[in-house]
Order: sequence, then C-alpha cells, then structure tokens
Amino acid sequence: MSELHKFLFDGLPVRGAIVRLTDSWQEILRRRASNTEHGPYPAEVQSLLGEITAAAALMQSNIKFDGALVLQIFGDGPVKLAVTEVQPDFSLRSTATVVGEVPDGTPLSQMVNATNKGRCAITLDPKTKFPGQQPYQGVVALFDDAGAPLERISEVLEHYMLQSEQLDTTLVLAADDKVAAGLLIQRLPLAGVGNLAGSMVSRENEDQIGLNEHYNRIAILAKSLKAEELLQLDVDTVLRRLYWEEPLTRFEPLMGETGPRFQCNCSRERVGKMIVSLGREEAESILTERSDIEVGCEFCGVQYRFDPVDAAQLFTDAVLLQQGNSGTH
Ligand SMILES: [Zn+2]
Repeated sequence: MSELHKFLFDGLPVRGAIVRLTDSWQEILRRRASNTEHGPYPAEVQSLLGEITAAAALMQSNIKFDGALVLQIFGDGPVKLAVTEVQPDFSLRSTATVVGEVPDGTPLSQMVNATNKGRCAITLDPKTKFPGQQPYQGVVALFDDAGAPLERISEVLEHYMLQSEQLDTTLVLAADDKVAAGLLIQRLPLAGVGNLAGSMVSRENEDQIGLNEHYNRIAILAKSLKAEELLQLDVDTVLRRLYWEEPLTRFEPLMGETGPRFQCNCSRERVGKMIVSLGREEAESILTERSDIEVGCEFCGVQYRFDPVDAAQLFTDAVLLQQGNSGTH
C-alpha cells in the first residue's frame, strides 16, 4: 500500500518526508501499458515519471495549500511532456507524452532538454478561487546556474525550491516498475514561509541559505541513500539507517484512504456521453472504418471501447433518457 511519512528533527530547523508509491504507481503503469496505441513507457520515461510523481506527493505534503499541485516537465526531446497532479487529499495521477525513441540509458537531458529549452513548471491551482484569480505557477529551466544541463530531476526540483521558494531542499528520488519513492529534507525558514504559501520570505532566511550546519549534516546523510535502498527498504529501516543518531519526531503515516492513491476522473459513462454528443451519424461513420470506437483518457492512458452494439445502446439510452426527461416537464 502506498504511504507517506512526515517527520521533524527535534530542536533543529529541519523537516523531512518519505513517500513510497506502490499500488498507486503500479496502477499508473498498468493503465498506460494497457493502451494499445501507446503501449508501456520506455524504462527511462518510467523512471522520470515515477520520480516526479513521488516528488509531487512530497511537495504537496509540505505546503499549506488547498488545491491541486501539478508538476510538469515540458521537454524539447523525445519526451514532450511528463505531468503529475496531486490533490490535497493525496489522490494523484500522472502521464507522459513520448514522441520518439528513448533507448535504455538515455540521459535526462537528451529526453527532455535536447536543445536546453526544456522547462519544469509547478502549478498550484486553488480549489476555491476568487473571481479572476490565476493559479500560481513557478517555472525553472533544466540547466544549472552555469548553463550545464541537469541530469537528475531531483536537482531540477532542488534548484526550483531554492530559486522560487528560497528553501534549501534535498531530494532523493527513484522509481522502477513496482515502486516510485522519494525522500525530502528541507530547512525550515526562520520566519514566515516560502512563496508556495503566498507570503514573503524574510531577509534573515535568505542569509541563512546554505549555511545551516544541522541542515547540511542531515542533507549529506540523505544523499548517501542509494536508489536501490530507497526502492527496497521499508520507511522505518531507511530512517533508522540514516538518522539513528538524530532525535526524530514522526507523525502518523498517511496511507490507505488518507494516503497517496491513484485516482483519475475518467469513466466509461463520461466517454459514453461524449460519444452521444458526437451524434449518431458521426459514431456510425467511425464504426464503418473500424470495429469499435476507442477513446483513450489523456490523463491516465486507459482506453474505453464501444463496439457497434455498445454504441447503439448508448444512443437508445440517450433517447429513452430524453423521453423520460421531457415526460416529467
Ligand atoms: Zn483517466
């Protein structure tokens, strides 16, 4: 079962979180693999998508904000888009658009930053908006301050957190075909909080960036965690191995109904309504060319199929529904 654990280092200005996505991540991969048009993700795309999915869950857990967090990589290589959306209740979904070959071993920069034009965007879309309110969005390039392409998505996001939120952050991310996992360590701002929560950052906080010895020690330990360990070890073991000398306060883990879980708002019923809205003639013309009407969800990849009998049923139901409705008026 997918789980998210948050913790504090007692008496130190440092907090952390670990996420392990198992069933939710496997569902994302299963839906994509079942898509006959696209098929499963190439291994490197799978890693990228798993890592941003884990990272987005960690970031959502770390902000006081009631709305969706959307993390997008806009690529200029064979991967045009990798996107993950995490709701405040930790329901999540992810997808990627791949337009070219991605052989095993392709570096991140060649996948999404071939001409140094790739971008990473983080959008916070409030659940309730006042009229005219736009979602908050921060964007960073996929290269470092010296212009060298970044080869790990964790570095891109650390860069983002420092540049956009003035927060020292250390991320370790990993994903395979079973687990997408991440460890986040963050130095707490001295006063106020970052832009993500909408308030200004204090001068004192900026002065502290990169200087806090406790944060530095804890961050170095985090970076010693290997990808295989993050993927294979349970959360208690990871924390004991890294931080057995540090006093930790741990919070109740989020799992099951309160934890990270897959959810997409697509459904066979919705797709059926869309087909009805096309009209019977259009639906029949599609069915003269192919054996069924097939509609893929752009957010999760799952395909819904309607053969001629299903399609005819949709229109019969629609007519009956209409007659029923007009009968009551
Ligand atoms: Zn869907």
